[in-house]
Amino acid sequence: MPADNYQMIMREIAGAAQKSGRSAEDVRLIAVTKTVGMAEVQSAATLGIGDFGENRVQDAAEKVRKLSALRWHFIGHLQSNKVKDVLPYYCLIHSLDRSSLAAALQNCAEKLDLVAAVLIQVNVSGEQSKFGIEPDRLPGFIEEVNAYDRLKIRGLMTMAPFVDDSEEARPHFRRLRLLREANQKKDLEMPELSMGMTNDYIVAVEEGATMVRIGSALFRSPIL
Ligand SMILES: *Cc1c(COP(=O)(O)O)cnc(C)c1O
Repeated sequence: MPADNYQMIMREIAGAAQKSGRSAEDVRLIAVTKTVGMAEVQSAATLGIGDFGENRVQDAAEKVRKLSALRWHFIGHLQSNKVKDVLPYYCLIHSLDRSSLAAALQNCAEKLDLVAAVLIQVNVSGEQSKFGIEPDRLPGFIEEVNAYDRLKIRGLMTMAPFVDDSEEARPHFRRLRLLREANQKKDLEMPELSMGMTNDYIVAVEEGATMVRIGSALFRSPIL
């Protein structure tokens, strides 16, 4: 992995965090490794990256099993029948987006005798093509998930629409932060906001992201 990419991204994150009254340590970089192999993951780890994201269970299986000392985040759409291949290997599932998946996670976590940390994926933009809970349904869904003793809600995740100007993504990120504030309770803190990718992570951090999921900006060749 080009070290220059990493340094540039960390500088941008630090600047954006400062704009939101925070510091770089308040934002975790998740290196999305879906397009790269084992060697690239290892070189990223050597640079000091500890968190990695994958969106396809099968494609990631070898990486997450062989590099099990790293923290793996599941960030893609998760089928209920794949839950058993995810729970043992990933520290956080970013994409809890429906009741049937919550039930499958609870069931599997019980069998494995573990607690599954999850983020609820919210479809803030309302695009038909996007997965995620509708904002209006969020309070009810949170209650539903909270009732499962093997699921621990850590926060919210969203994907902004693909736009040319990242400023257009800002209102969506802001909305996710406001949804977090509206739905936080004393017995349910939701510290994490997973939002921002290569094209829009700076704006996402300015709006309060605590986790950014970055692939291309990290792993692309620096001459491009
Ligand atoms: C691929 C992917 C990313 C990273 O996208 P880049 O634009 O390459 O940074 C982030 N989140 C999810 C859910 C992804 O599938």
